[in-house]
Amino acid sequence: MTLQCIKIAAQQANPVLVGIFVILMGLVSQGCERKRSGESFLLECKIGADQGRTISGSWEVRPIPIAFRVTNSSSSNFTPSEMTEVLNAARTWNQFFEVSMGFPIFDIGPSGNPYTTTEPLVPDVCNGATMISGNNFVREMIIEKRTSGWTTAQEDVLAITDFCSPGGIMRFAQLRFNYQFFHNAGQRDPDLESLALHELGHVMGLNHSCQAGQAGEGFPSCGAFPSSHEYIQAVLFPGLNFINGVGQIRRALQDNDMGRANCAYKAES
Ligand SMILES: [Zn+2]
Repeated sequence: MTLQCIKIAAQQANPVLVGIFVILMGLVSQGCERKRSGESFLLECKIGADQGRTISGSWEVRPIPIAFRVTNSSSSNFTPSEMTEVLNAARTWNQFFEVSMGFPIFDIGPSGNPYTTTEPLVPDVCNGATMISGNNFVREMIIEKRTSGWTTAQEDVLAITDFCSPGGIMRFAQLRFNYQFFHNAGQRDPDLESLALHELGHVMGLNHSCQAGQAGEGFPSCGAFPSSHEYIQAVLFPGLNFINGVGQIRRALQDNDMGRANCAYKAES
């Protein structure tokens, strides 16, 4: 099982978590509106020589349907505006995929009527679980608004995507946002679209652009690079900054995100 999360503060390392955050004060948004034009998307497979293991896999069946979990507790259901923010992030990935790969990566449902589900998340995404049968999805990629029961040892984790990719083939993914320790009055308030853009990168099989701890084979250490470096600027950088409790905006894909997505999906398309 691979567990991918995004954290906001340096705490003690949890060996289960791939991403530990590095504080980078002064890191501001990147002026990348050109990326939204559709004409300046990075169209080639481009991955750092030290990033060789930062792609876990890819989905053979696409697009990936994404569904918001609905429960009996209304506070644990996404509001329409929250759903819009998540769907905007999915659209950003889709715009890039359409141009570069010729297909969308996410199925976000009919306009104004996103998919919902009452299915719970599974406890173990690699316990024989699969979202695919043949060439069809039999289960959506479920997105949960978790308002209770979040592991307190991970209370500084903004969101977690866990996924299973045996042999580099994505089989299962699910995503939960931490609405227990974030987003509420008196708590830090991350930009949900920025956060979703990052997590959806994990959903498609991308690992972090770099990791906060020691570098490993195929995993560069974030601390080795200046804030201007593409690994630090990437949406898949393992952290978001907060200023006075307000989360950083990072709603545009960066070259390192697009380059790695191309490596994961372009060759086999
Ligand atoms: Zn992450």
